[in-house]
Amino acid sequence: MIKRLVTGDNHSEMKPLIYDLDLEQLSAQLQSWGQPSYRAVQLWQGLYQQLWSRPEDFSTFPKELRQKLADEFSFTNLREAERLHSKDGQTTKILFELPDRQPIETVLMRYEERNTLCISTQAGCAMGCVFCATGQMGFRRHLTSGEIVEQVLVFARQLKDEGERVSNVVLMGMGEPFHNYEATLAAIDRLGDPDGFNMGARRFTISTVGLIPAIKRFTAERRQIGLAISLHATQDELRSSILPVNQRYPIRELIQACREYVEMTGRRITFEWALIQNVNDSPQEAQRLAELLHGLNCHVNVIPLNPTRGYSGERSTRERVSAFRDVLESHGISCTVRVRRGIDIQAGCGQLAEHADS
Ligand code: SAH
Ligand code: SF4
Repeated sequence: MIKRLVTGDNHSEMKPLIYDLDLEQLSAQLQSWGQPSYRAVQLWQGLYQQLWSRPEDFSTFPKELRQKLADEFSFTNLREAERLHSKDGQTTKILFELPDRQPIETVLMRYEERNTLCISTQAGCAMGCVFCATGQMGFRRHLTSGEIVEQVLVFARQLKDEGERVSNVVLMGMGEPFHNYEATLAAIDRLGDPDGFNMGARRFTISTVGLIPAIKRFTAERRQIGLAISLHATQDELRSSILPVNQRYPIRELIQACREYVEMTGRRITFEWALIQNVNDSPQEAQRLAELLHGLNCHVNVIPLNPTRGYSGERSTRERVSAFRDVLESHGISCTVRVRRGIDIQAGCGQLAEHADS
């Protein structure tokens, strides 16, 4: 049964990653080993409350059970290949290597009492957005739910040692979360368990390039997770030229799906906008954006473009950024300019890629 859980990611001959299982599946497994039912809860609490990372940490377990856990499960799929700290000390990026050698990255941003974690949902990305380093490296594979979960645990353990905790998780690292819908949502559910890691849905934000069927599905599920849409342009011609997915899911339909989301859930939606000098940063474009979003309960996050090797566009000047924001605000649309973090360690939005590429 367990083996089946990791098929589809082409290393099914390996031991299953323990974080790929929910409590019910762990209980079934322990029961099949003849363990009393309370063991599964102890295991769950050890993993998600004590944040233990090795079978030997479960010192109250009989030795044979610890051995069995070690024999049957992997307790880590993330090998830390490199850890980088930004000069200001506020941003840490870890480059992990998965068992099949695929690279992923996870970024911790400490800012005003908050520890925001930016995690990956895929190795690489299939969406091909031209200004994004992950898009430039292409799609490698989906992460399993356990690999998504483990990224959070790695940083949660470190923060716990410092008496702190992860305050928010944004799914804005490598990959398109809605292209890996099931694993992404399963990971959030697993971390949300009140008897385990207890990180409520409201503390997560999913960012999507705009896969409309997935947005509709997400809307119908009426979850409390935050939603951000990477918009970047108001006209299909421009949007399609920088975000190829727009050819399939054009702007009008995308905004319609966003309106339905806001209506159905009563939640505010966020739009992300990477400002590229003389491409999508004119006051006229801001004006069109204000019209497009008219009457929609939303917030716009503008991010001056971060440099990547495969794209020659440049980030907007400070003056153009302010002018863009002023137009939106004059229409009553709330807007923040995202502080550029971790640029010196290639940890900014869209800069995540395998190290050899960065
Ligand atoms: N695939 C998802 C989430 C990961 S990308 C998505 O596209 O939404 C996270 C955010 O970084 C997105 O808003 C994306 O458009 C933005 N981004 C990508 N490359 C960037 C770059 N070079 N500079 C600034 N933002 C970038
Ligand atoms: Fe993928 Fe998002 Fe990068 Fe586009 S911006 S290539 S969807 S990670």
